[in-house]
Amino acid sequence: MVSSLSAIRRLMLDLLFPSKCVSCGASGELICGTCFAQIHRVDELIPAKYLSGVFSIYRYEKGGVLQKAVKAIKYRFIREVSGYFRHDIECVLKCNFANDYIAAAVPLHRKREKWRGFNQAAELLYCIDFPRCDFLTRKVHTKPQAELHRADRLSNLRNAFAVCGDVSGKNIILIDDICTTGATLSECARTLKEAGAKEVWGVVLGHG
Ligand SMILES: [Zn+2]
Repeated sequence: MVSSLSAIRRLMLDLLFPSKCVSCGASGELICGTCFAQIHRVDELIPAKYLSGVFSIYRYEKGGVLQKAVKAIKYRFIREVSGYFRHDIECVLKCNFANDYIAAAVPLHRKREKWRGFNQAAELLYCIDFPRCDFLTRKVHTKPQAELHRADRLSNLRNAFAVCGDVSGKNIILIDDICTTGATLSECARTLKEAGAKEVWGVVLGHG
């Protein structure tokens, strides 16, 4: 019932507001073929404190299609845009990690999740065929990282996360949208390791 209601709601919204490309505005799709072709896979492995490594899937440029897509998800609340990236996320997870690794979305504080209506990192994992579990919660409602200088980002997050469940001996892959300084992933990883997690990795859409 709920899914058919949301399908009807979606259909009505599509009729009232036909899909437009979040990057160029062309009608038809949320990311048109021309713009999607400008998002390049790079599969870089970047370092981050407390993590074994972070896979950054695409090249990320200011003003580029990926940045516009992420902004559309986060600030225009078009969660369906996440669907364009799930195939590659699933590929990266399956190609690089055995199935004793578990994917976990970087959590939002419940106030921010309520404001947005969803957690954009969890959306990236939605319906993906890979083990996943929500191992972390965000217990402190911090300032958005984007509003802070680099040096303040880590202190803003200190002790912001808490572990739920037993993570001891587990290999965990944190999923997030964009990695800027790595402060969020590092603080999540520090929290997980303190609770006994074995390896912590990251997978993000891009970094920069
Ligand atoms: Zn386009």
